[in-house]
Amino acid sequence: MDFALDDEQHDIRDTVRKFVASELLPRETEFLRRERHGGSGLPRDELRELQHKAREFGFWGLSTPEEYGGMALPAVTRAVIQTELGTTCVPFRFGGAADNILFHANSEQRAEYLVPTIEGDRLGCFALTEPGAGSDAGAIATTARRDGDDWVISGQKTFITNGNDADYAIVFAVTRDDDQAEQRGITAFLVDRSAGWTSSPIPTMGSWHEPATLFFDDVRVPATAVLGEVHRGFALAMRWVGSGRHAIAAQCVGIAQRCLRMAVDYAGVRKTFGRTIGSNQAIQWMIADSETELEAGRWLALRAAWDADRGADARHAGAMAKLYCTGMVGRVVDRALQIHGGMGYTRELPLEWWYRAVRVTRIFEGTDEVQRMILSRDLLRGHTRIGGHLA
Ligand SMILES: Cc1cc2nc3c(=O)[nH]c(=O)nc-3n(C[C@H](O)[C@H](O)[C@H](O)COP(=O)(O)OP(=O)(O)OC[C@H]3O[C@@H](n4cnc5c(N)ncnc54)[C@H](O)[C@@H]3O)c2cc1C
Repeated sequence: MDFALDDEQHDIRDTVRKFVASELLPRETEFLRRERHGGSGLPRDELRELQHKAREFGFWGLSTPEEYGGMALPAVTRAVIQTELGTTCVPFRFGGAADNILFHANSEQRAEYLVPTIEGDRLGCFALTEPGAGSDAGAIATTARRDGDDWVISGQKTFITNGNDADYAIVFAVTRDDDQAEQRGITAFLVDRSAGWTSSPIPTMGSWHEPATLFFDDVRVPATAVLGEVHRGFALAMRWVGSGRHAIAAQCVGIAQRCLRMAVDYAGVRKTFGRTIGSNQAIQWMIADSETELEAGRWLALRAAWDADRGADARHAGAMAKLYCTGMVGRVVDRALQIHGGMGYTRELPLEWWYRAVRVTRIFEGTDEVQRMILSRDLLRGHTRIGGHLA
């Protein structure tokens, strides 16, 4: 068994590491200062400028097919990249990306939504969750009723990432409602903001993802707004939700890696009672536990990505990786903050920011409990063998 990265993965990791060191780490202090004064994220212009710089490094559209100018990198390589990006609190993502389900669009929709999104000229959002339906997404109540050649959408979506900035939304609405749940039809629609939906930002604990509530008050769209097939949108929604799990896990690994690095460095220089705090077993154990859990998380994240690359059903491994890594990063950030004492609690360091930010990773794209539901169901119904392909 070979756990080493291949030469190409090595080169890519080193290049991204250099990009993080030269372009992102120097922006951390300013990013945190802005955050302290109520700002969030990177200003859109700055993000675009950085994305274009990254394009010069050769990084554009990591998962985007080559026919759209992307790199079509394997999931394992993307996980390695995601881990590197996780080592800074500056919320950067490479340009040239689009929601995976937009690739299911027809050729007109690709020209109108997919290509401009890849180019960064349009911003979309994925609108599934509602005030009455989150984990149980099949219970959404937003409706789209047929009116001549049009559809008329009514309802409310909530916690939608980028919802306040997006100029279009991928909206899921009930288009057929029978008494039996399996007869329900949900359809995905591509809806421009100019069609009439409105939004309102939701203040949250961390400043990641900037969720918003979206309001659809009889928003009229033409039949050409349907993404995929009528009544078949729920499968698309699940494809979107499942695709990000190993990436979230890999990002958590990067965050934990940086926090542990900070903890080790600080433990080696901070002195109390005439010696460094790192000479105390209480501190050493926090470091040892963090290193062990971080390493376990790294392999779960890579294993989930590897399953995706092999064309295997990556759902089970993705659920394990997300469940474990999102909990792990919370524990590692907490220990790193503890090791920094009062300094850790200040808003000068990224630790306090991460402490708030990472909490959401246990909630979105399937809560801890939903991941456990997936894992236990797979085993109880015999879909997955204990230990998967290695057992
Ligand atoms: C910052 C942020 C960004 C988001 N971005 C998006 C987005 O872009 N698009 C989008 O559509 N949604 C988005 N969401 C919504 C997110 O996916 C939901 O919040 C999540 O799925 C949980 O749904 P809920 O909040 O309604 O909680 P609920 O489903 O009401 O769950 C409440 C609690 O009960 C638990 N629970 C529920 N059912 C069970 C069960 N059967 N057994 C045991 N426990 C259970 C849950 O795990 C949770 O702990 C975002 C959320 C946040 C916070």
